[in-house]
Amino acid sequence: MTTLFISDLHLEAARPEIAEQFDEFLAGEARGADALYILGDLFESWVGDDDPNPHYAEAKARIRAVAEARVPVYFMHGNRDFMIGERFAAETGVTILDDPVVHDIHGSRVLLSHGDAYCTDDHEYQAVRRMTRDPAWQAMMLEKPLAERLAFAASARADSMARGGTLDEVISDVNAGAIDAVMREHDVTLMLHGHTHRPDVHRFDLDGRPATRIVLGDWYEQGSVVRWGAAGFELSSMPRA
Ligand code: MN
Repeated sequence: MTTLFISDLHLEAARPEIAEQFDEFLAGEARGADALYILGDLFESWVGDDDPNPHYAEAKARIRAVAEARVPVYFMHGNRDFMIGERFAAETGVTILDDPVVHDIHGSRVLLSHGDAYCTDDHEYQAVRRMTRDPAWQAMMLEKPLAERLAFAASARADSMARGGTLDEVISDVNAGAIDAVMREHDVTLMLHGHTHRPDVHRFDLDGRPATRIVLGDWYEQGSVVRWGAAGFELSSMPRA
């Protein structure tokens, strides 16, 4: 049996080809997995579980079908969908994980994270992150009418496009010292995260021990998956049909 890890699909109505590939993945190999982990940024944006967006409703129904097929599905918040809450969990059957968290994957202790918390060189980003992850800020946002939250998200996106001049945000890479620190804190030599859209397997020395950091890719041009079985892990891209 294989444990599957994905992240950074950035599902949105404007990119139907990603949803199509995600559907095939969920209906196919995910059904035979021993667990599926979605490590954040499944959705391009999320303003609250009360958003009736039909594109998101379809994704929720398909995730639910996997959970109902008795495949445990774990979800961790990303920086785009950190407002996903307990109603989403109830509707889909996913278990929401803390970020970071250590899970035993086929006998190995692996530190799982979305990854954005370690992009510490980007001070502006970390300031926004601190604000938006504050439960009081989130509660204040969720009290606003849905239409107002959607308008806020649209204008935030327009602002970031105006600043960066591109549709896709410029994402900083993680800071090596921040990675060392969190791996030390959790006493692990294996870490798996997404967010940076820089899929790779980094092998390095951590306090005299060989350490490995696996980075999932985004799904903009193709899928990206880590398959972890008894023999170890493999990071692969999944070309679109
Ligand atoms: Mn991200």
